[in-house]
Amino acid sequence: MSDIEDLTSRMRHFTEARDWARFHDPKSLTLALVGEVGELAELLQWLPHEEQVDAVRSQPMHGRLAEELSDVLLYLLRLADVVGVDLAEAAASKLRANEERFPPDDHRSVAPTKT
Ligand SMILES: [Mg+2]
Repeated sequence: MSDIEDLTSRMRHFTEARDWARFHDPKSLTLALVGEVGELAELLQWLPHEEQVDAVRSQPMHGRLAEELSDVLLYLLRLADVVGVDLAEAAASKLRANEERFPPDDHRSVAPTKT
């Protein structure tokens, strides 16, 4: 079992043990995910650019980032589980597509564009 499968299974059991599955519709989980992304963004929001590299590797910021990144991941895994997406496969497929879309020789040091 992969780490993703293990975490997804543990989230499913965590939810079922608390009878919370009835609250975990796709929209509610998406909003919860967005809320956690907001908490992550709030940690970095006003941190000056020149302080970020050191701050993110120092406590207490590093610990807070780990917490919020974990919240984001767990809600993302739960959402993928509820909507029936194999996230490991979907992400691998998306990465393969991006590797083909942005060949390194054509895109090195060039920011990707939205098309
Ligand atoms: Mg949080």
